[in-house]
Amino acid sequence: MTTMATPTLPTVEDLRTRALDALHAVGFHGDLGTPGEHGLQASTPITGEVLFTVPDTTAEEAERAIAEAARAFTTWRTTPAPVRGALVGRLGELLVAHKTDLAALVTLEAGKITSEALGEVQEMIDVCQFAVGLSRQLYGKTIASERPGHRLMETWHPLGVVGVITAFNFPVAVWAWNAAVALVCGDTVVWKPSELTPLTALACQALIERAARDVGAPPEVSRLIQGGREIGERLVDDPRVALLSATGSVRMGRQVGPRVAQRFGKVLLELGGNNAAIVTPSADLELAVRAIVFSAAGTAGQRCTTLRRLIVHSSIADDVVQRIAAAYRQLPVGDPFADDTLVGPLIHETAYRDMVRALEIARADGAEVIGGERRDVGDESAYYVAPTVVRMPAQTGIVHAETFAPILYVMTYETLDEAIAMNNAVPQGLSSSIFTLDMREAERFLAADGSDCGIANVNIGTSGAEIGGAFGGEKQTGGGRESGSDSWKAYMRRSTNTINYSTELPLAQGVHFG
Ligand code: NAD
Repeated sequence: MTTMATPTLPTVEDLRTRALDALHAVGFHGDLGTPGEHGLQASTPITGEVLFTVPDTTAEEAERAIAEAARAFTTWRTTPAPVRGALVGRLGELLVAHKTDLAALVTLEAGKITSEALGEVQEMIDVCQFAVGLSRQLYGKTIASERPGHRLMETWHPLGVVGVITAFNFPVAVWAWNAAVALVCGDTVVWKPSELTPLTALACQALIERAARDVGAPPEVSRLIQGGREIGERLVDDPRVALLSATGSVRMGRQVGPRVAQRFGKVLLELGGNNAAIVTPSADLELAVRAIVFSAAGTAGQRCTTLRRLIVHSSIADDVVQRIAAAYRQLPVGDPFADDTLVGPLIHETAYRDMVRALEIARADGAEVIGGERRDVGDESAYYVAPTVVRMPAQTGIVHAETFAPILYVMTYETLDEAIAMNNAVPQGLSSSIFTLDMREAERFLAADGSDCGIANVNIGTSGAEIGGAFGGEKQTGGGRESGSDSWKAYMRRSTNTINYSTELPLAQGVHFG
């Protein structure tokens, strides 16, 4: 372990007090056990210690939660959409009032620096506002009928219970993306958060229940079940769960997708990414480097949209790498609650081991590794690392895998075609960007034979999407779309209606029958 000047971390008692203050502020007054008791061990990556034990949901309780949500659906689906929007609007107001409380819990459990944790809660507020507007804009289509005296149209109806499974790294925003949109669409929600972030989930549940009380909505429209994979499987296999929206690793998606398909349920998958940026000779390098450093090192490399591959024109590669390495040396790594910290901890020891292993493999493949050492910030059971730039001789082996850590592989290219082929040559397809001032290069990157990712940006990094657009990715990222634009359609069922207001009975395609 490399020893830098050792900043002090908060004590576990400080962290417990922060957690309790935040939980009480949002209205959670339930019981939490002491570490080691039976249940989920709510730990913090800040020190690696367990803060509390949270009761995990039993199979019977999960069954009850799904049954309650299914029952609530029978009335919620016919509640007018703008009235449903009032619930989400109230949730948004409570989130504004409790932004710092919830952000503190995100920092405690996911290790995000305060600014990013606040940003995550802001994303929840944004999606609530979006969903309130949406509650007055759910629309169908009227289509020209081929038959006289007929009207052809499409209408959209609520789907049923939406099961939401979320990952540790966006412990609150991903629930909100799903819940806010699903609730205005007339669905009810059962949420299984990551077993690594149970406290933030308790806080969100307290807020949605308060919002429901405040507007007179049935609290059963949004239920919480807590636990690991086994409790998530209850949602996967239950035929009452009409849509399963699952966010996490490709490994999880491979397990979940076929099981839901087996029962002909709907599935919305938001899985891992392996995001690249192309830097062309015309790029504004100062702007590019700032964007690259945030995308690659922010959230300690633990975003699905984290920049993991840099594809740089060979003529500027040395310059770009030097600038990034210089910026990395300046990045304060440490306590995510501290004002000046920009890189917090990795989530756990396994994440650290995965990073070490990936760097070993890269070295064996001939890479030059700059940075990446473990930082001693005063606690052996917490894992703080310096972000790493890894110059690869080619885009091979380990570069094709998503390692959830701040590793930026750098490769060079000669022609734009080659760069785009490299961008697309990984199994995942979430986010991508190009840094260029050449309009032809930018347009080519966005064209049908350009980036194959769900997100393709120009002159901004791969991470930090706005909620107004549809979010999601192709290939092994799962194909799902969430959040803005017309993503709401995934949460509703479509009905095609033909209405005959004539006195004749003409058949389609000119068919005569009797
Ligand atoms: P993970 O796959 O380990 O766990 C995600 C969730 O799935 C957890 O709640 C877990 O309990 C549950 N789960 C795992 N296996 C399951 C199964 N067989 N049945 C039911 N539930 C199951 O992921 P993680 O480590 O928490 O998060 C990091 C991963 O998530 C990365 O790969 C990241 O790219 C991805 N991610 C993707 C997006 C996106 O929008 N594309 C967003 C955030 C995170």
